Amino acid sequence: MTTEIYLDGNATSPVLPAAIAAATCAMGQRYGNPSSSHAAGLSAKALLDQARQCARRLLGVGEGRLMFNSGATEGIQTAVLSALVALRERREQGEAIGSLLVYGATEHKAVPESLAHWNRLLGLNLTLHKLPVNPQGMHDLGALRACAGEAALVCTMAANNETGVISDIAGIQRVLEQTGCKAYWMVDCVQALGKLALNLAATRIDYAPFSGHKLYAPKGIGMLYVRAGAPFTPLIVGGGQESAQRSGTENMAGIAALGTVLAALERGDTFRTHAELEGYRARLADALREALPGIVFNNPFENSLPTTLNFSVPGLASRELMDVFDAAQVRVSSGSACSAAKAAPSYVLDAMQLPLWRSAGAIRMSFGPLTDAAMIDDACRRIARCGAALRAGCLIPSERHGTAHDGLLQMGVEGACSWLVLDAASRSCVLIDPLPEHTARIEAFVRCQNYRVQAILNTAAGQENGALIEALGRHAVSRVPADAYGWPALPDSVTLAGGQSVPALKLGERTLACVVEGAQRHYLLGQTVQGQLAAAAVRFAFSRTPCVPALQGLTGAATLLCPSRDEQNQFCAGATAAAAVCCDSLQLDHAGLNQLLGAHPDALLIDVREDYEYAASATVLAVAGKVQSVPLSRLTEHAADWLAAADSTLIFICRSGNRSLKAAQCMRRLGHQHSYSLTGGLALAALAQAA
Ligand code: PLP
Repeated sequence: MTTEIYLDGNATSPVLPAAIAAATCAMGQRYGNPSSSHAAGLSAKALLDQARQCARRLLGVGEGRLMFNSGATEGIQTAVLSALVALRERREQGEAIGSLLVYGATEHKAVPESLAHWNRLLGLNLTLHKLPVNPQGMHDLGALRACAGEAALVCTMAANNETGVISDIAGIQRVLEQTGCKAYWMVDCVQALGKLALNLAATRIDYAPFSGHKLYAPKGIGMLYVRAGAPFTPLIVGGGQESAQRSGTENMAGIAALGTVLAALERGDTFRTHAELEGYRARLADALREALPGIVFNNPFENSLPTTLNFSVPGLASRELMDVFDAAQVRVSSGSACSAAKAAPSYVLDAMQLPLWRSAGAIRMSFGPLTDAAMIDDACRRIARCGAALRAGCLIPSERHGTAHDGLLQMGVEGACSWLVLDAASRSCVLIDPLPEHTARIEAFVRCQNYRVQAILNTAAGQENGALIEALGRHAVSRVPADAYGWPALPDSVTLAGGQSVPALKLGERTLACVVEGAQRHYLLGQTVQGQLAAAAVRFAFSRTPCVPALQGLTGAATLLCPSRDEQNQFCAGATAAAAVCCDSLQLDHAGLNQLLGAHPDALLIDVREDYEYAASATVLAVAGKVQSVPLSRLTEHAADWLAAADSTLIFICRSGNRSLKAAQCMRRLGHQHSYSLTGGLALAALAQAA
């Protein structure tokens, strides 16, 4: 089985083997409570002291406090609480404290959320003030200078988690000093640990939170530095642990593990050097440039952590890039929060004023300082495979022409989609209701497959397709004059059921007929016999909505309705389709899958990942039964055939179980009762097989 390449180090990291051993020892042999005065307790206490001493040296905390806690989110709360309590006291004593809680526009959400929360809870009523960053992601020091006089607390990060951009901490300190700013200053050092040298007591920084799981320690362990003399209020009180700064029996397994990582960092014999890491990033960047033409990097390498790359590729959504990398078992993260199909733009990249396509399509690749050259070699090979898969799938420009597709292709965004009717034999196609969002994708597809576009049709008048025609290149689009719906002035016609004669367009063996209903148009696709398109011969009907009474009588029981406006994400509808289906009965876990395959050995397993994911795939699902690749974008084409064999068993699979569920629901709605989805998708199936 191909191993996973983990390139999401800024999200979290695996645990250093020596740290696992230390945690195991802390749980197994040295399990005492460090507050106990017997030998078991003393042994645990020694472990705790050792870890703290190491952290103190490494971070240069001088006379300051350094407490262990559950992680950076807790550290941020404690810092904000401490500062705000002190500010409230000072204000109550009549001191002018300023009115602003200043935070960098690219801070982790934990910062503005904590500021808003404690500001409200403590009744301070200060104003949250977002400090802008420049297009390189650096804090705008001019803006800081302008607000420093009114700042009560300033929160900036040492390095950004999405872009790795390294802040000018010395520059910020200079502004605070030059303006005589009395604000407290928190610096989120989460991403800096192990990657940037820190000497905290030599700075004006009052609070610095850290998190273990970003640097090979487990989740749930972190540290907070508080400068000597900076105000402090515990967030958690109780048994007085951590010198009463953070009560609760210590997470000794976490502390032992973190202590081991910090000791390795101090020794300097475990992690790669800055120069080595920069070399690795350069190699990954070269591989990405080679594989993904037009790629743009969103972080300036000269001023960001050597372990972070953030990029966007024109015409590719972050979801698609995530999917193809995941198929190749390369774990990366999208720079933005994704919903099913639409990516919300990244607020970090938005703050850097990058155009929407870059902030909504961003991918972050990040690795840890334990990475070695062999892993980078392997990652580069897989990046090349992803590029080849995307080229073959016509998602990015390619010199070669891709294998011609036949039939229907549905490009969807939430609630709406574009339809492509393709004929491989004549290398021609018709586009129906193409969405402006799909212009680049349609252009890449048509160009790479070398299709001639016979018509660009709309179901409503007045849709503007000029930009698409421009992008396709006028030579690729038929020059026959067309009406307001894009229907070309051709002499062909066809007789529909009921005897009506309507204009028609030949697409290889099939015919597309145009039905006028008031201001709307519907298009029927099927095979004619002697100039007649019988209702039963209409395979697909394209309309604006999935329910069209006007087509009754013109279409058959097996005709699938293909809507271009599809609020329910139904893909397609049928004459007898149910409105909704129950989810539970169609979801299979791994045991359920094996059971079903046992009972129905001829069940069809359908992988609904897109072609490029399939091509980039490092593993296939090792289950009995036939696996067929039918991307979700081609489901409608195949649905008609599956419906004709209503007794067959269909099991849909995909990466996470999301798309396969939609496919199974669609088939059930269309009346195929033996359609199922593998819950958790290939990700969980691989785990179940390994178990
Ligand atoms: N700050 C930054 C910059 C981070 O990257 C993270 C983690 O994503 C946090 C804070 C929160 O850290 P934790 O997971 O330890 O609460």
